[in-house]
Amino acid sequence: MRAFFFLTLFMLPGHSILWGQLLTGEELIKSEQRGFTQSRTLRSNSGTDYGYSVHHQTLHLKVNPNVSDRLQGVVQICFRTMRNMDTVRVDLRDELQVFKVTHGSDTLRWDHRNHQLFVLMNRNLQAGAYDSFSVHYSGNPSRGSGFGYYVRDRHQTGNIIHTLSQPYGAPYWWPCKSTLDDKLDSVDILVSTAKGLRAASNGLLVDERLLNDSTVLFHWKHRYPIAPYLVAIAVSNYVPFTDHAHFHNRVDSLPVLNYVFPQSFSSARVEALQTLPMLRLFDSLFGEYPFMNEKYGHAQFTWGGGMEHQTMSFMVNFSFDLIAHELAHMWFGDAVTCGSWEDLWLNEGWATYANALCYEFLKNRSAFRARLEDMQKYVMSQPGGSVFPTDTQNIGRLFDGRLTYNKGALVYHMLRWQLGDSLFFAGVRNYLASPARRYGFARTLDFQNYLEDVSGQDLTPFFNDWYIGEGYPTFNIDWLMTGNRLKVQVKQSTSHPSVQYFDLKIPVLFKGLPSDTLLVLTPRDGDESFEFILNTQVEDALFDPDQWLLAQSVITGRNANLGGSGSIQVYPNPGRAAVQVYSKNQRISLVELCDLSGRQLLSKELPDGLYGTELDLRAFSNGIYVMRVTASGGVYFTKFEIQ
Ligand SMILES: [Zn+2]
Repeated sequence: MRAFFFLTLFMLPGHSILWGQLLTGEELIKSEQRGFTQSRTLRSNSGTDYGYSVHHQTLHLKVNPNVSDRLQGVVQICFRTMRNMDTVRVDLRDELQVFKVTHGSDTLRWDHRNHQLFVLMNRNLQAGAYDSFSVHYSGNPSRGSGFGYYVRDRHQTGNIIHTLSQPYGAPYWWPCKSTLDDKLDSVDILVSTAKGLRAASNGLLVDERLLNDSTVLFHWKHRYPIAPYLVAIAVSNYVPFTDHAHFHNRVDSLPVLNYVFPQSFSSARVEALQTLPMLRLFDSLFGEYPFMNEKYGHAQFTWGGGMEHQTMSFMVNFSFDLIAHELAHMWFGDAVTCGSWEDLWLNEGWATYANALCYEFLKNRSAFRARLEDMQKYVMSQPGGSVFPTDTQNIGRLFDGRLTYNKGALVYHMLRWQLGDSLFFAGVRNYLASPARRYGFARTLDFQNYLEDVSGQDLTPFFNDWYIGEGYPTFNIDWLMTGNRLKVQVKQSTSHPSVQYFDLKIPVLFKGLPSDTLLVLTPRDGDESFEFILNTQVEDALFDPDQWLLAQSVITGRNANLGGSGSIQVYPNPGRAAVQVYSKNQRISLVELCDLSGRQLLSKELPDGLYGTELDLRAFSNGIYVMRVTASGGVYFTKFEIQ
């Protein structure tokens, strides 16, 4: 999910997007907190408490957004018992009235209270038994006070009914097990609605037909495991169009089906094409698109953001960032779903990072760096806060853009830096492809284990610092170059007392003559010194030039060989004929002119050691050179221009 209200509330200056028709962020979060508290009652029932596992559900739904928000439904639940039982419990809100529960031609007894439906089966079920029943119900679903679990709305040219069940909204419109530990193995969704409207949903559209003069039926069939909160419908006056994504080394293409409002058709037709290179990129980075036998797609809706409904994301628009974020969720969130809301960063941090990777691989390196820099500034705009949500009852905290989304994303980026590209992406692919995780659930420790297996590293300290711990480090780096020796002292302080020391590799670019040198420092405690012998003369130092680290830095340093008394002077600079090389207090024994790669072009020896000499450089073409001077105090480098 990606909500633009997070951007307007917290996002970077200069990047905020304003959506006039939305609730203010504060109103929305308040309303979400109410919804969240109500739904906790449902969430407290873990899947095993129900005593059964859902095998398949068929939803027959009748809606007409042109008339009202009324919903009529017949939902069949096929399940397998995990213990002996005679009563089966499902979650369904009290606003919906159940008028019949059937088992074949039999009618079953039921009790519906406290948003739960208890169905008395007509026989005792042994553990391991398969059975099913159908719930016949109708009503005006509550919008729910979450993100708007079931909403009837208007857009410029028509009406819409759409659902968005994350995190606890599924029972607001259909009877199901609203948990994060049991996926439906498959689902059929049949929606009948007014002629002229179309229904969007998960999987493949296998039937579309006129039932009578005024009613049409859409049958969507999904044959992959799916978490209940990812089942969705949207019904409006959609105009459909299909693109096809082609993959390297594969014959089959993937249809990308878009349902858009008529007024958006011409722009969406063009913007939706951005999906295709992203699909190819994610396929190459993360492994095959997880629902390859069916489709990917988008259905436009009126909520101010996007939601990763499995195989058909619901979108407010077709921006580059929103397409990338929701598409990435097909791997992170849908195929592998967070096993508890504490692990939401496995969904949202990854979708945010994959969005940034689209800048790296589909735009360019500098766009990627700028994106990372913005994210880093945003996360470090406050000294504390963990990726781990300490209070999952606080929905504002759970879906916190700074922590769950952006800090989560940057923690993945730092893991990539610590492990290197090939190990990192191999570990991520193993995590996504593993039979234990693919089409199931994962906790944070599971993800950590895949990276540890592939790298052989113990990542517990890293996860303790960056997932549980709060804040970020500041590095104080002081360097001194004398002769060809570079001394670097690194001290670390942290922004929050929960972490005393962040164990990180630190890249520092030492800029100098004749070339720059990138050194990776690996301090093991909060105050450590390093020494290097270099063939270059350092003039300046730049901390983390490629934006790997969530960290701040203060760099000081100097090169004792360059500038100041006792150093070598070259005059005039720029010059060509009669160039003077001299020193006030050092005897010069050798003067060399080099190109910028350090190759010697001219040398002049002064066997007796003199305080100065003159060079004729008229034989050389215009340009920048380096003067390397060996004197009694050491070797000195000076940038010199021939003109
Ligand atoms: Zn998301």
